Parts: sequence; C-alpha cells; structure tokens
Amino acid sequence: MRPPSVDSLANSLKSSGLPHQLRVEAARRAIAGNDHENAAAYAREIYDDLLQPVINGTGVIIHTNLGRSPLNPDRTLPNAYRYSNLEFDLANGRRGSRDKRVGSLISKYIGAESAIIVNNGAAAIFLVLAALAFDRNVVISRGELVEIGGGFRIPDVLESAGARLIEVGTTNKTRLNDYVSAAKNSDPALILKVHGSNYKMIGFTETVPVKSLKTIGLPVIFDIGSGLLDESAPWMGWPTPSWLKGEPGAKQTLESGADLVTFSGDKLLGGPQAGIIAGAKKLVDACARHPLYRALRPGNLTLEAMADTIFAYLDNRADHLPLWKMAKIAPGELKTRAELLDSGAVVRLKSTIGGGSLPGQEIDSYGIALSGDKTSDLRKLKVPVIARMEGPDTVIDLRTVDIKDDSYLKSAIRSLP
Ligand SMILES: *Cc1c(COP(=O)(O)O)cnc(C)c1O
Repeated sequence: MRPPSVDSLANSLKSSGLPHQLRVEAARRAIAGNDHENAAAYAREIYDDLLQPVINGTGVIIHTNLGRSPLNPDRTLPNAYRYSNLEFDLANGRRGSRDKRVGSLISKYIGAESAIIVNNGAAAIFLVLAALAFDRNVVISRGELVEIGGGFRIPDVLESAGARLIEVGTTNKTRLNDYVSAAKNSDPALILKVHGSNYKMIGFTETVPVKSLKTIGLPVIFDIGSGLLDESAPWMGWPTPSWLKGEPGAKQTLESGADLVTFSGDKLLGGPQAGIIAGAKKLVDACARHPLYRALRPGNLTLEAMADTIFAYLDNRADHLPLWKMAKIAPGELKTRAELLDSGAVVRLKSTIGGGSLPGQEIDSYGIALSGDKTSDLRKLKVPVIARMEGPDTVIDLRTVDIKDDSYLKSAIRSLP
C-alpha cells in the first residue's frame, strides 16, 4: 500500500494540538521512517518538546525544572491588546523611564533607597560587578566561592565581569581580620558576600556578618540569592516557620548595613524570573547607567508580573501568592484531599521549598502512593503529572498540586495502564 500524502497525514493529526507546520513535520518524519501508522507518536514527541503546563506532584515548591515559583495564571492574556506606560510618563505625556517604576515598589517594602530589575539573579550580580568593580579587586571569603547550579560559579562570574578575585579565609572559617588585611593590601572596590543557598556547612565554621564587614569602610554587597523579602515573613503568621530560619532577608540585610543586596525574583519572592539590585541609590544608579543594563533589563510581561507580586506584599496578602499559599497549607487539609482522591494509598510525605534554598528543610505533607514505577506513564498524560519515587512506590505530593487539578488527577490516575 502506498503511504499517505504528507498533507493528509498532517491533517489526521489535528487532535495532537500542534499547529499545522509542526503536524507537517511529524508527518514527514513518520513517512521518512516508513512508519506512518505511528504518526501520532511522532506528533507527541514534538509536542513533549514544547513549553506546556504540567502538574507538579513532586512536593518541591520552587522546582527549577518546572519553572520555579509558579505564577498566578490570570496574568496570561493571549488575545488582549495590552499596552502599558512602560516608558511613558502619564503626568506630562513625555517619555518616561521603566527603570524605577517597579523597583520603587520593591524598595518601599524592603526599605531600600533604590532598586532596579534585571532578567535574573545571575544578571544582577554580573551587572553589579561590571558596574562597580571592573578592573578592580573584589574581596570574598573562600567559603562563599560557590556554584549555584546550572554552572553559575561565583569566580567565573567575577572574571567575566572584569573584576579580580581576592580570596580570603578558608573553606570553613573566615574572620573579620582576613577581610581587613585584604582590604589594606589590595585596594578593593568592594566586599562581596554570597549566600550558600543550595549547600550548608555544619560543624567547625565561622563567617563574618554584614554588620562587622561594614566596619571596614568598603561597600558591602550581599548576594542573598533566594529573595526572601523579610526574614520575619509576617505573611506566614506567627511564629515564623522553623524551616525559614537562617535564610537572609533583603530587608534585614539592608538594615544590617549592606550597601546593595541582589536576589532572584522567582525563588522565595514568589514572582517571575528576574533579578533585583537594591540598596544605596548611588550604587543602584551606577548599575542603571552601565551599558550592560540595557542588555539585561526585562520586558513588560516580567515587570507587570513583578508589580503584581510586590503589590501582594504591600497589601498584606502575600499569603495568596501561589508560593506562600502552597507553603502554608496545613498537612491535614492535604490528607483530606488525598482521601477524597481515592486513587492510591494515602501517605505522609515531606515537601521541600527547593530552588536551591533552605537545603535540608522539610515541610510535613500528604499525598498518594501508587505501587511500582508509574512516573513515565504519568508524564505521558495529556497534562503531564510529574511524580517521584519513594522506595518501590510512585508518590504524588499534593502540596504542590492545585486543588483545582484534583479531579483531573483522579481520572488521570484511574486511566493509567
Ligand atoms: C539562585 C542564585 C543565584 C542565581 O540566580 P538566578 O535567578 O538563578 O539567575 C545567584 N546567587 C545566589 C546566592 C543564588 O541562590
């Protein structure tokens, strides 16, 4: 029998959800492989490679592979005409500046003089070093020369920003005196502190807090990474959850004397992918004036989503942000949902915050367990469900699943082979 035409095969793949040109691509591949009867599988392969929604059943709230902090879906307005006053001054009708609009909201919340937003945390630290320490020395503790993940290594970032690294102290212990001698001998532009984020040192260790570093008289920049805005996390209620302890807050870091603080927008801030540089106006302005800022600044969508996120903090409703809402759900509530799902054994689980923050900290949770390895079948569902293995079982942690997805989850699990 002759193989079908590319066109008719492509047309038969409409239910794949792919746009026409990608259906044609699937049809071509199937015919080239002499496998036109399995064309749907080729279409699925292409579909799986597209950006698409998934259900996060891993219990890792800030899942780097699943887009970190989830955003409120109401933000997506695919068919609306939507302009904003991004670079327009509504008061006088002239060209305005995007630089400070959203930054000033963040400043207000954390008590910074000024703040700007760039594309991610890496860009924030890169721009700070390029603007303030190009061709100059930067003092940093050997215990803070970390790799954050995805190959982001502090020494490499320093070098590519044109700064020179002056390492002080040892891996486990760095004292104020180490910084003082380096400051005397190397005329550095600034002192950089980097939060360990995804790793933890225990035992015989010593680091120097910002307050002491300030006594040296050099600008102190602290890359706190995770973007927890306020250590006391008032949106979580009283007392502050124990799993948040030890994570530096932007507000407290500035209060303790840091000249600048840099952090991500999509970790413990709970907003879109972005990086924030906040602190002394003079230094923030120097970053904003640097030509690289033009290359690193985010667009409309990011700034709008960030403004929404910060509004929630300023309006005392940060507990409604998806990140904190998930972190806050009582285990009992998750247990009830697991029972109602009635599609597997109800099990106690431990969720984590993830996103390279708070290593080793866990939050009690509930979910369901299915016997055997079902992770691959779950990934093949129409809306893929990402689960994890615990021993011989596949578990789905309900803390990271939107309650609105429970009924889908129930029928999806029942449909498994
Ligand atoms: C996550 C992190 C970064 C990188 O931020 P991205 O937003 O991923 O670019 C930098 N420094 C620290 C300390 C971090 O935790």
